[in-house]
Amino acid sequence: MMLKWLRPRQTVGFLTEIDIDDLLSQGIRGLLLDLDNTIVAWDQHDVEHEVQEWIHRAKASALALCLVTNAKLDRVERAIKPLGIPYVALARKPMLRGFKKAMQMLGTAPGETAMVGDQIFTDVLGANLLGVHSILIELPDPKEQWWMKGTRRLEKWVMKRQKPSKA
Ligand SMILES: [Mg+2]
Repeated sequence: MMLKWLRPRQTVGFLTEIDIDDLLSQGIRGLLLDLDNTIVAWDQHDVEHEVQEWIHRAKASALALCLVTNAKLDRVERAIKPLGIPYVALARKPMLRGFKKAMQMLGTAPGETAMVGDQIFTDVLGANLLGVHSILIELPDPKEQWWMKGTRRLEKWVMKRQKPSKA
């Protein structure tokens, strides 16, 4: 069934909630990060201090990090500067090329790679199609472009179908 490709393996409220040691203990060595609504708010350029700290901690661990984003280069370069991690911009997620390119840069196989993002139809779907561990940032009320409204409604429907029904 289609829905299984849209099911995140893990959901969190914020990037900084992700337990780095937990990922490592699951054999994850590569971490792919979305940009908008994952490491920066969609209308912001700067990465919040707390997020920077988390990323530096992840980098200092055995994880290798790479940004994979559909955003344009100028936006990406500004955000990435304080982080010092490689990136794939204009990735056209959920198309697989960007994910593959990033894994190639990190030298990790899909089974030892995780992808963190806030969108089911780009971040989660692409990751799942490749067998990459998908982590969804579930935003209660995302601030973003008006045309994302329909997509978000569809995502809510998908997530509702995936919650185990209470007997
Ligand atoms: Mg995003």
